[in-house]
Amino acid sequence: MPSMSNKTKESAGAVQVDVRKIVTSVEEIWHEGGPRAKKPYRRGAIAAVVANPYAGRYVEDLTPMMDALKPLGFRLAAALIKALGGPKKVDAYGKSVIVGVAGGVCGGCHMKLPTQSVVSAKAQNELVACPSCSRILYFTADMG
Ligand SMILES: [Zn+2]
Repeated sequence: MPSMSNKTKESAGAVQVDVRKIVTSVEEIWHEGGPRAKKPYRRGAIAAVVANPYAGRYVEDLTPMMDALKPLGFRLAAALIKALGGPKKVDAYGKSVIVGVAGGVCGGCHMKLPTQSVVSAKAQNELVACPSCSRILYFTADMG
């Protein structure tokens, strides 16, 4: 994976993207309750935690931040493809966003989360997705 420190900043116009953290996960799956595969299925995910320059206030136009995030998105996609062994190793892909967990509820779809999802998100040892909307769940100490 290319070097991506937490001090990385990417800019487009006046908006700076302050990358706090990059998380890359590559799983090797032999089975998930069904028959054992002849060769493992690999599933990868990559996510960036960035500072939100608009947090706590209303902003009419989010376009400058959305534009500023595009280079980071391309970089993350390239890093994940590399982590999976190159483009010929990728059979399918999707994208999602990270949302907070507050009061046991997904910050994206606002559905009550299973206790195990909340516990796993709190542990921060693996990427945990909301079973309702598939957004990646993020938990900080100030979230209840
Ligand atoms: Zn959700």
